[in-house]
Amino acid sequence: MSGHDPHDHDDHDDHSELGDMDVRVRALESILAAKGYVDPAALDVLIDTYQTRVGPRNGARVVARAWTDPDFRAWLLEDATAAITSLGFVGRQGEHMVAVENTAARHNIVVCTLCSCYPWPVLGLPPVWYKSAPYRARVVRDPRGVLAEFGLSLPATTEIRVWDSTAEVRYLVIPRRPPGSAALGAEALAELVTRDSMIGTGLARAPGAPT
Ligand code: FE
Repeated sequence: MSGHDPHDHDDHDDHSELGDMDVRVRALESILAAKGYVDPAALDVLIDTYQTRVGPRNGARVVARAWTDPDFRAWLLEDATAAITSLGFVGRQGEHMVAVENTAARHNIVVCTLCSCYPWPVLGLPPVWYKSAPYRARVVRDPRGVLAEFGLSLPATTEIRVWDSTAEVRYLVIPRRPPGSAALGAEALAELVTRDSMIGTGLARAPGAPT
């Protein structure tokens, strides 16, 4: 790698690739473990942390807080890194966060066109489709078409803005608070915030909607 590419970071996310890369990864892991370079148990803990324990639940709590606390929302939009850190969500791939808020007028969607930059501390590991070439290429050219494939159809009057993540900046979408959620507290609200709604390929769930 050149060293000038903003996506060129030493702890690149691609080692978490599943699907057709899975076999290669497992083979590599086996060799590294056999040579004593990595501890498979430590790897399992790392993966579990990001996939399930951290997962996208941290981001959901950030969003729920923004929905219920106007001061926090303002802070999040002004300095997402500091606001997110204040909730204790810190770690690699989340050092420089920017929050972008969906409104009736504008829907935000996040991609990494060059690789798979993604905000680990708030969203966990990226889904396979996020790292796929078709998503990365098409979301810039035809965001409305990509959203339709995710089952999301927005009014023509809603502008769609695409944000390209890099190693320097990772984006978190603040989805719109769903109708019918006025009476819910932060914890119940967080349950409505899906991973995809924080990438921009989905909306927050309506209360009572299937998970
Ligand atoms: Fe990247």
